[in-house]
Amino acid sequence: MDSSPFTSSEVDVVVLGSGAAGLVAALAAVDAGANVALFEKADLIGGSTAISGGVCWVPMNHHMDEAGTPDSREAALAYLHSLSLGQMNPALAEAFIGGARATVEWLEAVTELEFTLIPGYPDYHPEHPGGRPAGGRSLDPGLFSYESLGPWAGRVAKSRRSARLRITDTTLGGGTGFLDDATLSYREEHDLRGCGAALVGPLLAALLGAGVEPVLDAQATDLVIEDGRVRGVRLAIGSDGGRGHVHVAHARQGVIIATGGFEWNPELVSAFLRGPMTAPASVPSNEGDGLLMALRAGAALANMPHAWWAPTVSVPGDEAFGRPRATLLNRERTLPGSIMVNRAGRRFANEAANYNALGGAFHELDPVDFGYRNLPSWLIFDGRNAREFGSFGTPAGTPIAPWITRAETIPELAETLGIDAAGLVGTIARWNSFVDAGDDADFGRGRSAYDRWSGDGRFRGEVASTLGSLDEAPYFAVQVHSGTLGTSGGPRTDPDGRVLDTTGSAIPGLFAVGNAAAAPTALAYGGAGGTLGPIIVFGRAAGQAAAKSGAERSAGGRTIG
Ligand SMILES: Cc1cc2nc3c(=O)[nH]c(=O)nc-3n(C[C@H](O)[C@H](O)[C@H](O)COP(=O)(O)OP(=O)(O)OC[C@H]3O[C@@H](n4cnc5c(N)ncnc54)[C@H](O)[C@@H]3O)c2cc1C
Repeated sequence: MDSSPFTSSEVDVVVLGSGAAGLVAALAAVDAGANVALFEKADLIGGSTAISGGVCWVPMNHHMDEAGTPDSREAALAYLHSLSLGQMNPALAEAFIGGARATVEWLEAVTELEFTLIPGYPDYHPEHPGGRPAGGRSLDPGLFSYESLGPWAGRVAKSRRSARLRITDTTLGGGTGFLDDATLSYREEHDLRGCGAALVGPLLAALLGAGVEPVLDAQATDLVIEDGRVRGVRLAIGSDGGRGHVHVAHARQGVIIATGGFEWNPELVSAFLRGPMTAPASVPSNEGDGLLMALRAGAALANMPHAWWAPTVSVPGDEAFGRPRATLLNRERTLPGSIMVNRAGRRFANEAANYNALGGAFHELDPVDFGYRNLPSWLIFDGRNAREFGSFGTPAGTPIAPWITRAETIPELAETLGIDAAGLVGTIARWNSFVDAGDDADFGRGRSAYDRWSGDGRFRGEVASTLGSLDEAPYFAVQVHSGTLGTSGGPRTDPDGRVLDTTGSAIPGLFAVGNAAAAPTALAYGGAGGTLGPIIVFGRAAGQAAAKSGAERSAGGRTIG
C-alpha cells in the first residue's frame, strides 16, 4: 500500500473481514477462478473466529459415516426446526443441510484442514426431535502448525486461554483445560495452535498459497454503488483510522460483507437487541460496519433482536485487540457445588443449559417491578468446588484469584454482594435438598444428556457431574453478565449469500455472510459449532456465487499497491 492520500485497485471479488466467513468466502471465490482482494479492519487476522473454539456444527458430515453413526437430512431438519420457534427460512435451512457435507469435503481438499469428531459431545438440545445425545455433528479442526505461515503467524489474533489447546483438551470438549508440561512445550516449539486458530490457520495458508494477501488495518466504510449495482468499496487505511488515506477497491463481480456482528456498537445494540447485552466476548472491531453499509444500499433485515447469547464474566486481563472483553462462563456454572442467583438470592434457570439458551433468562422482565428479574446475577460456589476444580483459569488446588468475592458464611456473602440474605440461605438449602434427592425439581438441571457433559468429568453422563451441594466454607461469588459470542441479525440473504432488498430482489453485486448477515438458522443453535457450521457452508456458497456474478470476469485483476 503506498502512502499517497488516495489509492485504488480493481479485482473480481472484494471480501471484507477475515473471520471464517471472509476467509472461506475468499477461498471459494479464488477456487472458482476469481481474482480476490481481502480487507480486514483490525491489525490482526481472524476476528472472533481466531479466538473461538473453532468447532463447526455440520449435520451429515462424512466423518459421522466413517464412525458408523450416520446422520440423516430429515433428522437434521426436524432438529433445526424444533429450535427455531418458526423463525427459520426453510429454504436457507435446506441449503445449509444440502451444502454441509460437501463443504467439509471441499475444505479438507483445498486446505490442510482435517476435521475430527469430538467423541460423545451431545447436541445442545439432544432430546429434541432429530437431536443427537452422543453427538457427531460437532467437528474439531484439530491442531495447525503456524510455522508454515512465516511472518503471517504473528498477524493472526490469539486467544489468551486456548491458543495451544485443541477443543478436546478444553473442559467444553471433554478435557481438563490444562496440558502437561511436555505437551505444552512441544506445541510451543512447533507453534501448534488449536481451537479457532486451527480453523483460521489453514484457511489463511490456502489463501496465501493462492496469492491473496489480506490487507490489514483497512476499514471498509462505504459501498461504491453505480447504476444500482455495487461496484466496490471505500476503505480507510492505516492505524491513524484512515485519516488521509482512502482506498477505493473496485469489484468487477461483487463485494462480500463478512464484517462480523454489531455487538460492539452500543447504538445498534440498543436499537435492535431484544434485551440487555453488556459484555460481548468477541473482538471489539465488530461494530456493525457491514450492517450500516448494507442498510444504506437498501438491504432488508432479519433476525435483528437475536444474538448468539452467552453468560459472561469480566476476568481481569482478558482482552482482545488491546481492549478488555468478557470471558465465557461455560464450565464453572455447570460444576457441582455451584449455582446462579439473582438479587433476590433465587436461582432462575438450569445453570448447566447451553449458553445460547440461557440468554433468554437474562431478558425475563418482571411486570410489577418493571425491571429485568435476573440482572444482575451471580455465580455462587463453595470451598469444595474451588478446591476440586479451580476457577477461571486457576487449576485445582491453587488459591482462588483475589478478584473473586469471598466470604466465610452465606449471609456474609449475600451482604457483600448486596443481595437478599434470607433468599440466598433458603435457595442454597433447597438446592442441597435437590442434590440429596438426585433431582433438581425446580429447573431440571442434570436431566438432559447435555447437562451431564461438561461438569465434573469423573462422573460424565451421570447427574453427579453437575449436581453437588454447597455446604463448605468459604463461599465465593462472581457477577455474571448478559453477553454474546456475536449478534446474529443482519441483511437478509438468499441461499447464495446475495443481499436482498425490501422487495425480495437481490441487490446486484452485494453479498453478506457470517454474523454480518441474518443467521440462516435464525434462533436455532444446534450444538457446539452452531455458528461456524453455517458460516463455512454459506461462506463457500457466497464466494462461489460472487465469482460467477455480473459482468464477464477479466483474465486478471490489478492487485492493490
Ligand atoms: C470465545 C468464543 C468462542 C467461540 N467458540 C465458537 C465455537 O467453537 N464454534 C462456533 O460455531 N462459534 C463459536 N463462537 C462464535 C464464533 O466465533 C463467531 O460466530 C464467528 O467467528 C463469526 O465469524 P465471522 O467471520 O462472521 O466474524 P468474525 O470472526 O468476528 O470476523 C469478522 C471480522 O471482520 C472485521 N471487520 C469488522 N468491520 C470491518 C470493516 N468495516 N472492514 C473490514 N473488516 C471489518 C473484524 O475486525 C473481524 O476480524 C465463539 C465466540 C467466542 C467469542
